Amino acid sequence: MEYPDLHLHIGGAWKKATSSQPVVNPSSEAVIGHVPVATQRDLDDALAAAQDGFNVWRRFSPRKRAEIMFKAAALMRERADEIACAITLEHGKPFRQAQLEVVRGCEFFEWDAAEGQRIYGRVIPSEPGIKYIVQHQPVGMVAAFSPWNFPLSQPARKIAGALAAGCSIIMKASEETPAGAMHIARALHDAGLPPGVMNLVFGVPSEISEYLIPQTPIRLVAFTGSTAIGKRLTRLAAEYMKPVLMELGGHAPVIVCDDVDPVAAAVMSAARKARNAGQVCTSPTRFYVQERVYEAFVAAFVEKARSVVVGDGFESTTQMGPLANDRRIKAMEILVGDAEEQGARVLAGGRRLDRPGYFFPVTVLAEVPDSARVMREEPFGPLAVINPVSSLDEAIRKANALPFGLAAYAFTHSASRANELAENIEAGNFSINTLEASVAETPFGGVKDSGYGREGGAEGLVNYTVVKNISHSMTI
Ligand code: NAD
Repeated sequence: MEYPDLHLHIGGAWKKATSSQPVVNPSSEAVIGHVPVATQRDLDDALAAAQDGFNVWRRFSPRKRAEIMFKAAALMRERADEIACAITLEHGKPFRQAQLEVVRGCEFFEWDAAEGQRIYGRVIPSEPGIKYIVQHQPVGMVAAFSPWNFPLSQPARKIAGALAAGCSIIMKASEETPAGAMHIARALHDAGLPPGVMNLVFGVPSEISEYLIPQTPIRLVAFTGSTAIGKRLTRLAAEYMKPVLMELGGHAPVIVCDDVDPVAAAVMSAARKARNAGQVCTSPTRFYVQERVYEAFVAAFVEKARSVVVGDGFESTTQMGPLANDRRIKAMEILVGDAEEQGARVLAGGRRLDRPGYFFPVTVLAEVPDSARVMREEPFGPLAVINPVSSLDEAIRKANALPFGLAAYAFTHSASRANELAENIEAGNFSINTLEASVAETPFGGVKDSGYGREGGAEGLVNYTVVKNISHSMTI
């Protein structure tokens, strides 16, 4: 179980930094490595390298770009166990989930690489002797920022999108979980990516974003993280007229209609809540259950939640790992305490486990008043709220009541109810009878405070391009 030596990757070369900060295993709280902190000089080098990289990469044919991206994905698949091991060490998630994350990251690369060959333009019908051509061109150099919850698949989304569209990228990945992004850089390097096309830095997040975003050659800012930071970076980008791609927080509602088996829906939901210890922006959180099936749903959810085995990600029986850091533990304690004070019933979990590491069990809160903080603040942890509703209208109203609009879910066998929900739920992603919000081939992103722009699918690649309108007269 080796944790890799961590480096910056600038202009195709690995670089140690003069200072570093510790990386902690959240299962043991032990220091497992040190992540280099980039200096301003490193960032300047990355900017110069990304400019050179862009000049080369934009001239590669889409097919040649795809070949390199496919090769990198194949290398990551070959190295999946090694990469998953590093992810479990730095993030804590069960090893099997880390392996699946690597596969998902590879799928982003493979799908975007293929789709990059189909970024079609248009020829607009015109008078004889003139042609109007609409062409998508790579937007240019991208400054991207990825969070700690999916160390590989989060940076993979942005890197794959940028590279497939012909852009170069400076990726600032998470300092808390840096190994996933480093493995991507290694795979791309080994696959023959020209120097400077993908540059990887770590450091003080605010210093890096505030330095990179205003730089003239940076043409797009891509960020995944909290709404608060997303808004801050959007304001900064606006000052310099840079487009942004923002994947921000969520507070996903789940509407459970009384025409489905409440036990099956509850078991599926509680298992999904445990995924990544609930630290997923699409994690199902607010359950609005129709009264007729409410008691049965709650009972089955609680039973499943209590059965989730929490522990070190390398234990074969572990189904849910620790939270990523102490901040998440504190957030859970505050939200549970506040809900309890306001009259909510705590039916499962609710307290940190008494052992080293940041372990917090799947927690079920029922009959939570709308005034409780957990009803409007994203828990970003293994916390589910279950409340009864008397009608579909009430469920839709409550689901839409928050400023978030990332993922939403419903369970129903009724086509008309499904249609009513699909028409009226305010979310970028709405899933019926499944708790999967998106896959590589579908566009993922939010509305309202959950951000804008899409990642994945044909729509995702468009973010990394600009439209050029070419008018060409055949006479002079
Ligand atoms: P945070 O808001 O401090 O940080 C979130 C991410 O943004 C981190 O990766 C961090 O390194 C980065 N970041 C912070 N300040 C930045 C800046 N000025 N410039 C560039 N990057 C910056 O919160 P946190 O405690 O790390 O995470 C908790 C919250 O973050 C959660 O409540 C959740 O809403 C959000 N989050 C969302 C996602 C997601 O997938 N949308 C992922 C991780 C965290």
